[in-house]
Amino acid sequence: MIKDFQYYLDVAAKNDPPRPGIILAIRMCLLALTRVEINDPLTQKRRLVVIVETDRCLPDAVQLVTGCRLANRTLKLKDTGKMAAVFVDVQKDRSLRLAARESANHKAVELFPGLERLEALSRAYRTLAEHELFCEQWVRVHLAPEDLPGHHGARVTCCQCGEGIAFRREVRTGGRILCRTCAAGGYYEPL
Ligand SMILES: [Zn+2]
Repeated sequence: MIKDFQYYLDVAAKNDPPRPGIILAIRMCLLALTRVEINDPLTQKRRLVVIVETDRCLPDAVQLVTGCRLANRTLKLKDTGKMAAVFVDVQKDRSLRLAARESANHKAVELFPGLERLEALSRAYRTLAEHELFCEQWVRVHLAPEDLPGHHGARVTCCQCGEGIAFRREVRTGGRILCRTCAAGGYYEPL
């Protein structure tokens, strides 16, 4: 079953004071699970897929609260640099996107004018109501079969670099099979 906010905060922060980002992220996950009505994500493996839009605190919180992980393909990163995530209930085929409101930061400073910024944010993220912290929107997400947990497809080999490619990430062009790096350039350059 889902535990309470304080439990996750204690686990995430260990002995240090929790950073504002992890507080906000844990609250986002708890709200999402309530909305999609999944109250025991750890026993309903593969039912929930979470797409996070930034790294740092958010994926940590998702992993802690929902058990979704990159390794089992239930956690994905689409980096838009936003404190936002889409929670996909694969079973019911519905998805909720939650995004942190910028206005919460202004409220924090108004609420706790005497405090340092990080402390003010920490307090505000604990105390503000959910609707003050997050925008909620039901959305449609297309997750291809090869993106879902449990997919087993044929691996192919790039005919240029010879590296193996899983999950249909190859590019087929002119009768040849290429990896994305050979087809369009990659994120690194050989030295
Ligand atoms: Zn290649």
